[in-house]
This record gives sequence, structure tokens and C-alpha cells, in this order.
Amino acid sequence: MDRYTYCNEAGTIAYALCILANSPYLIIDCEGKNIGAVDGVLSLMCIGTARAEHIFVFDVIALKPFHSHLMPLLALLRNPNVHKIMWDCRKDFLEIAQMYETKLQGVVDLQLAEVESRRTVRGEKEFRREGRLASGGRRLPLRVVKGDKDLFRDVHAVQGMDSCLRETGLSTEGKDPEIVAMHKANGSALWLERPLSSKLLHYAAHDIEMLGDLYEHFVRTGWITSSGIHLLLEQSARYADAAYNQGRVPEGDVFGSSAVLPLDILKEPLGIMMMCEGCRRMQSLLCFTTLKQGRQVKARKSICRVCQINTMVRNVDHPVYWVKVSL
Ligand SMILES: [Zn+2]
Repeated sequence: MDRYTYCNEAGTIAYALCILANSPYLIIDCEGKNIGAVDGVLSLMCIGTARAEHIFVFDVIALKPFHSHLMPLLALLRNPNVHKIMWDCRKDFLEIAQMYETKLQGVVDLQLAEVESRRTVRGEKEFRREGRLASGGRRLPLRVVKGDKDLFRDVHAVQGMDSCLRETGLSTEGKDPEIVAMHKANGSALWLERPLSSKLLHYAAHDIEMLGDLYEHFVRTGWITSSGIHLLLEQSARYADAAYNQGRVPEGDVFGSSAVLPLDILKEPLGIMMMCEGCRRMQSLLCFTTLKQGRQVKARKSICRVCQINTMVRNVDHPVYWVKVSL
């Protein structure tokens, strides 16, 4: 039996709304062609209830004529009191914001919760943070990370949902390898095909189940606590906003989102803000490599430290120069 409801007309929307409106929180994940990129097209918006007991797969393309029927759902997405459990909210947030003129509120990003738990719950030390940056195909040799303390200060590697499922021991199976292989071979345009095969719909719904499992695990192990949720909500909102303000970038763009967490996300920006000429994001001075005279900052690099690191990870030669700082 299918564990999900496919929503592609008014009747199923109404049914989904009745169930979703009664859930204490929602689990959200989107699928589409190159979502978040300049040629991105949203195909499916999957929304689950608590513990993924119900999963609704909204066919964004088929539902275009039913826009007015979606209004109550969009109100739910905007309601900050209804938390939205997500894994790396950046691209989904941007797609939903532009498709439905609806900015998700109350996002609880599990990817950030995982990063935060390394230090606060698991007691990971500096060498482990550096080790994580140097692993996972980021092409950053450990000696490079260790050799430039200033560049890598407070910079964290983020991981994919699959890798977290393995690390937590929740699943060794993860995503359907057949679909992952199809993605690798033909790209993500397969999400635009209609009718969608039940295999693809299943794959999309399965992500919601995995997110539900992760969330339960995070709460059980204290990676998410009632006292820490307020901070996590703020961090998640900054994470979503940073990507939204940067806007769509070409797929694989050197300054696009990567497996290196941008700065000014875990911590609130402090002091004067400056624009990075890579990601174009306004960030505090701490996010840049600086040149000091005594204790006074005289200049900063034209791109932020994470953009500098991304040029290294992606092996791109990008001109970087000093910009005078007058405080
Ligand atoms: Zn930058």
C-alpha cells in the first residue's frame, strides 16, 4: 500500500488540508529540476504530518490551475507557530517563495541542528571540525585546513541527509540507489516528466519518512531541545534568507551553496556589515580575511572566507583583492 497521497486536483488538496492543519508540526521536502538554480523548476512539494504518519505529495505542475485552492495551505506554511522540519531548507525555501509568493516561517533545519550538536552535545573538538572540513570530497587536504587557522575559523562542513542517516545509524539503506543513479546519469529533469512513475513518487515520499525519523532521533538524543529551539529557528531563518537574498545562481556556480556552511548563520551578525563580491551577501567583518595594523583592521578580502574556501573546493581561480576598511 502506498504510504502517501498524491495531490493533483482540488479534492485531494481539501483532504490534505484537513489532515495537515491538525498536525503539531510539518515535514517538508521538495523535488524538481535543478531547484534553486537559474533554470530551476519545482515539480513536487512533499509535506508530512508529525512522525510522517501522513504524507502528501503535491504535484506543483498539475496544481497550477488550482492555485486558489492552495491558499489555506500557503497560510499554514507562513504560520511561524507551525514548525517546518526540513533538511537544508535553502533551495526549497527559494522555490516555494518564488512559486507561491510564500516565505516559509518556523523552519527547523535539521542540517543546522546536526552541526550545532557536534560541539554542544557530542563535545567534538577542533581537530574533528577540521577533519570534517577535509573529508567528504571537499578537496581540502587536512594540512591546508590546519595550516590556515584564520581562514577556517568557525567554518563548518555540512552534510547531506543520507550521510547523517548513516552516521546516526538510523538507516544504512538511505535513498533508492536506482533513482540516485538516474539522477547522476540524466540529471534532475526526470522530475518534470508526467505522469510520474510510482517509483519517483515513492522516492519523494520516502524523504519525508527519513526526515521524520531524523527529527525523532534528534529530539531523543538532545540535539534538539525545547530550550534550544528558539536559537535553531533563528539560525534556520538566517540560513533560508541568505540563500534567498543571493537568489538563483547557475548550477555548479563557484559561489552557490555548497557543503561548507556560510558564516553569520549559527551566530548572529555583529557590528558593521560588508558585501562579499562572491556570494553578494552582506556579512560582518568576522566573515572576511582581514589585514591588521596592530589591533586595527585596515583591509579585508573582497570575498568572504567561505567564498574563498569554495574557490579552493571547486578549484576555481577567482581574482581576490584587498578592500580598504574604514571603521
Ligand atoms: Zn561570500
